[in-house]
Amino acid sequence: MSCSVLIETICIDHTCIRYTDYPARPMNVPKRLEIAVIGAGLGGATCAALFQQAGYQVDVYEQAPEFTRLGAGIHLGPNCVRVLNHIGLKQRLLETAVRPAAWNSLMWDTGEILFSLPLRNVAEHRYGAAYLTMHRGDMHALLIDALLPGTVHFGKQLVELDQDPSSVRMTFADGSSVSADIVVGADGVFSKVREWMFGPEEPIYSGYIGHRASIPARNLGHLSFEDHAKWWAPDRHLIVYFLTNRRDELYLVTGALEKWERPISWTNSSQQELREAFSGFHSECQRLIDGVEGEVTKWAFFERLPMRPWHRGRIVMIGDACHPMKPHMAQGAAIAIEDAAMLLRCIEVIGPNDIEAAFTLYEANRTPRANQVQDLSRHNTWLRDPCDPTWVYGYDVFSEPLVEDRENLVVSDA
Ligand code: FAD
Repeated sequence: MSCSVLIETICIDHTCIRYTDYPARPMNVPKRLEIAVIGAGLGGATCAALFQQAGYQVDVYEQAPEFTRLGAGIHLGPNCVRVLNHIGLKQRLLETAVRPAAWNSLMWDTGEILFSLPLRNVAEHRYGAAYLTMHRGDMHALLIDALLPGTVHFGKQLVELDQDPSSVRMTFADGSSVSADIVVGADGVFSKVREWMFGPEEPIYSGYIGHRASIPARNLGHLSFEDHAKWWAPDRHLIVYFLTNRRDELYLVTGALEKWERPISWTNSSQQELREAFSGFHSECQRLIDGVEGEVTKWAFFERLPMRPWHRGRIVMIGDACHPMKPHMAQGAAIAIEDAAMLLRCIEVIGPNDIEAAFTLYEANRTPRANQVQDLSRHNTWLRDPCDPTWVYGYDVFSEPLVEDRENLVVSDA
């Protein structure tokens, strides 16, 4: 028995709509695809959880020997919280994460409020899911916990790929090799998968770095803002927010111009460097910097120009591997997470017998959005002044109409 998927052909002037059959996977074909995910970062771990829950055989190959709990925070926009809720993490996220009262944009020197976007309770109502901030390590641990034991294979650095029409062979630095039906490259900005498909090309250093540090709340007195604040100067900014809903630790992350001639992601920094980079900022910023405890690091902001395709044969990419962006919209991981959900959706719509068509559909539905967010992130203007963020936060990767770009086709999997 086979099912048909509706395609609406929409004329440019929207005067005619036609429904026709789309070659879809037979309904009762078991999902026997074996999926290999390269990289167990936030995108790769989400991808693995989604595919596993949909019944696929999934293995994740991660170069790190183990995970360390990096001292960093993360904003989770409602657009990606929706996907995390779908994986079943809603309750556990709410037990740990902060639902910030608002996003507050402030003038760097006077502290004048430029814009305040209400979030707590409002995000759920307006955008369909909560807006959260949390410790990146806690979020990663929740995702890894959502996987079946043994899914992630550590110490597996991909060095070589090889594919034929029916499978892909992966070789790792330890000399071992395995095969899978599909390989998902979720291996970040220095992606080996990308390099194998399209040749070596260094990512572009944007000219900006971000300091990262944490501040025990006990080191601070009264704060003029609730939960989150970003102080904006013309060429740099400073952001603070809470890492857990106990509100006992704040995370400080910045953006500042700096020369960077090293092909590495991060290096050590110090409280003194923070003081120098943000001298002249509002007295509350100075108090926050004074409160920093523990290590201070600085991270290069890399990006790449928009690229397409994101796949070759049976190999496809998600996340920073194909669209690294400056972090100024706090959407890099969110877009990687949306990618994972859309990839699954497109494989389900097209079926396992035409993987290239599924990947093409996936790209058609992801590249415009990823490019738009990547481009806006470059400018560092997001939420500085009053605006309506619904197009970012309200995006529902599960119900967004599917577009097949070549012939203005809209594919419905409803
Ligand atoms: P990564 O998280 O980079 O994961 C890649 C994984 O692949 C790693 O585990 C790596 O070890 C592994 N790997 C790499 N090469 C190989 C190989 N050859 N073999 C096997 N494994 C390999 N985004 C948000 O949504 N919200 C935020 O608040 C936010 N804040 C940010 C703040 C800063 C300072 C920065 C720099 C970024 C921020 N981002 C944020 C962006 C976000 O961190 C990234 O977009 C996101 O982590 C990308 O996820 P990924 O899974 O694609 O790649």
